[in-house]
Amino acid sequence: MTISSLIKYLIDLLAVLLLALGIKGLSKVRSARYANRLAAVAMALSVVGVLVNSLGDKGIPITAWTWIIFGTVLGGSLGMITAQRVPMTAMPETVALFNGCGGMSSLLVAIGVALFPINDGFGGLNNDLIGILSIVVSIFVGAITFSGSLVAMAKLQGWLSTPTWMQNKLRHVFNIAFAALSLVAAIELIRGGEAGLWLLVISSSLLGIGVTLAIGGADMPVVISLLNSYSGVAAAAAGFVVGSQLLIVAGAMVGAAGLILTQVMCNGMNRSLTSVLFGGALGAGSVADSGGEYINITSCSVEECALTLEAAERVVVVPGYGLAVAQAQHTLREVTRALETSGIKVCYAIHPVAGRMPGHMNVLLAEADVPYEQLLEMDVINPEFPAVDVVLVLGANDVVNPQAKNDSSSPLYGMPVLDVQEAQTVFVVKRGMSAGYSGIKNDLFEMTNTSMVFGDAKKVLGDLLVELKELGVGKKG
Ligand code: NDP
Repeated sequence: MTISSLIKYLIDLLAVLLLALGIKGLSKVRSARYANRLAAVAMALSVVGVLVNSLGDKGIPITAWTWIIFGTVLGGSLGMITAQRVPMTAMPETVALFNGCGGMSSLLVAIGVALFPINDGFGGLNNDLIGILSIVVSIFVGAITFSGSLVAMAKLQGWLSTPTWMQNKLRHVFNIAFAALSLVAAIELIRGGEAGLWLLVISSSLLGIGVTLAIGGADMPVVISLLNSYSGVAAAAAGFVVGSQLLIVAGAMVGAAGLILTQVMCNGMNRSLTSVLFGGALGAGSVADSGGEYINITSCSVEECALTLEAAERVVVVPGYGLAVAQAQHTLREVTRALETSGIKVCYAIHPVAGRMPGHMNVLLAEADVPYEQLLEMDVINPEFPAVDVVLVLGANDVVNPQAKNDSSSPLYGMPVLDVQEAQTVFVVKRGMSAGYSGIKNDLFEMTNTSMVFGDAKKVLGDLLVELKELGVGKKG
């Protein structure tokens, strides 16, 4: 072993450790920012490791150095600019796009090695059976991740909806046909035929489109985390292709973490993974017409809402997607601070799929310095609702829809929801009677203990703060 390859192994080891610590830290809001930086440093170190290794006997040519540095700077800058500019509400689309980039990278690496076999300092394995199998897996999973993620992004952006033929059994025929074609192409590639390579790229890409296009609506978060897991598997396979232990370990970690998150999301929505993948579209597009008319709606003014809040002892805030759209988290924090100063107990009920990405509400409220201990998960808060005086539902809809529990014909049926209707009084703040992401009517809005407070969440909360202050809420003593 040369000095340069020894240094590379040590750098790789450090990078793997940092990545593992980074992934662990991401599980807590408090350490997430720091953990993200650790993972970024790990990625930068991995590039340094490759460059250091190339200084040895079998050094890579200087032109490759230029490309590696150019690619790192270009990719890093694009990633940084995107991360800074993208609004929180567009985060799921961004995550889908980044997953797709991961899949595309593994796909390109595998195609590159299949076309130009490597036997240099990288220690590629592509001449033996494991090597060629790794290429097949990397292309197959990489292409599915790439095309599937682009479809997921387009669906989340509202650019694409599930075509009618994809909502019936025909889609299974489509998907089985391309899965079978991928198998044939993989065998051809293993036997050494270049045609198999391109056939595998095309058939797996179409399979990725077919599998993702049929899924929608409330199942979208599960798909995003599953695609995240796939991008890890594709990266691990690419690691075998180019003989990079670092890529194998990092890819395996991302693959496993994505799979665990997928399971958590499935549990949160009471859906099995098979029903998400093969059960059909539970999508905004497919159920948008099942909204129905509202008949008995009670609305009230901000002033009335303030009076009820002033008299409450215990208040629960339910944040949803609309709160993020209105960017009302800071105004909300001012309102809850005022209530707390007057001795009213406040906490926040967090549904696992509230908003548009896993952990969306945690991140949003953390931005406004809401104490973590006040964020209560659904299982903790649900039994407590009967003892709550006022629930303030802010831009949330699907996550508080009782249909999910009471109506077996509802597309939401089976998804665990927050039982806010059990509280004494419920105020729902939203701009009108529009449906939520799933496109269906919400029975909560017609319940006798529910009052709608119409308006943009930020404006309503701002007005509420003024009213509360006029009532003396928020004054010490
Ligand atoms: P919903 O999407 O069900 O409802 C949001 C509500 O906010 C709408 O009914 C809208 O009504 C209201 N709203 C929009 N803008 C404003 C505003 N400026 N001020 C006040 N209200 C506003 O949100 P939930 O959080 O309840 O549910 C999330 C949904 O998204 C679930 O179906 C979930 O499955 C899905 N999803 C979740 C993902 C995740 O990972 N968390 C990813 C993808 C989808 P109006 O227009 O009348 O104001």
